Amino acid sequence: MRVVLALGGNAILRRGESPSAEIQRENLAKAAELVARIARQHEVVLTHGNGPQIGLLALQSAAFREVPAYPLDILGAQTEGMLGYMLEQELLRHLQFQDVATLVTQVVVSATDPALEEPVKPIGAVLTSEEAERARTVHGWTVGRDGSHLRRLVPSPRPRRIVPARTIRRLVEAGTIVISGGGGGIPVIRTPDGGFKGLEAVIDKDMTAGLLAREVRAHALVLLTDVAGVQIGFGTPDATTLGEVRPEELEAHTFPEGSMGPKVRAAIDFVRGGGRMAAIGALEEAPAILEGRAGTRIVPD
Ligand code: ADP
Ligand code: MG
Repeated sequence: MRVVLALGGNAILRRGESPSAEIQRENLAKAAELVARIARQHEVVLTHGNGPQIGLLALQSAAFREVPAYPLDILGAQTEGMLGYMLEQELLRHLQFQDVATLVTQVVVSATDPALEEPVKPIGAVLTSEEAERARTVHGWTVGRDGSHLRRLVPSPRPRRIVPARTIRRLVEAGTIVISGGGGGIPVIRTPDGGFKGLEAVIDKDMTAGLLAREVRAHALVLLTDVAGVQIGFGTPDATTLGEVRPEELEAHTFPEGSMGPKVRAAIDFVRGGGRMAAIGALEEAPAILEGRAGTRIVPD
């Protein structure tokens, strides 16, 4: 089976953990062990989030005044390289005879996507009110609420096309584990001369994972996060986790934007588009999810 696996932000950095290289490496090592178990049996395209990482790079870049701060597209490319590098090393520890490759992944968005005018996606660390004020006045950033916290907000356009889709397909067909679309990929638009130009935005990782799954013709899309599955009555005493469901059943409920909402939407779109199964569940249970024993598994209507 060909599987697209998406690692949530918590697979790399749990809430509240310091974004040091060492801690990220330890967490990625645990994730890689699980991914490797799956890659022994299936073709794998691996993607991941980058919210804390790109946010930290933006702060670091803004702190050095002698050079203008790097734009988000370039910082996105940096996070793909950094996280891909660590994931490759950790995967190769378990799969010494397998090929692993990371692709810096441009993802085409529409230049007229209305989402480009609305900064809604939080990135980076939680800011104090002084830091938020400085971020607004000195860096010109939009700062807003993420729950009860202040964070930088950036636009999050819808992904439309994975630029290196054919390359990814060729690599997986040849048996390579491909790490791509990290952080949702680098948002780009077409230029009149036929080239590409990066944007000051980030794409939702789950939406890109879904598109990636369609474009590489995957059988399954597995979105790995820090909950066992999609809950009905989330946050209430009688919350229940769904097992196998059809898109129609999920559509009867609403899920919060910025967390479960995009995962459910990506899962529904994938199975409606011809995918065999989409699943949402806990990273630790990834192998069991693929065996149909854990997670919320969304199957065609
Ligand atoms: P990731 O970094 O893995 O994408 P997110 O924070 O974006 O993680 O999404 C996972 C979170 O979604 C869970 O930790 C949980 O707090 C939240 N969530 C919101 N609604 C639900 C729901 N109905 N069922 C399960 N989790 C939910
Ligand atoms: Mg998320």
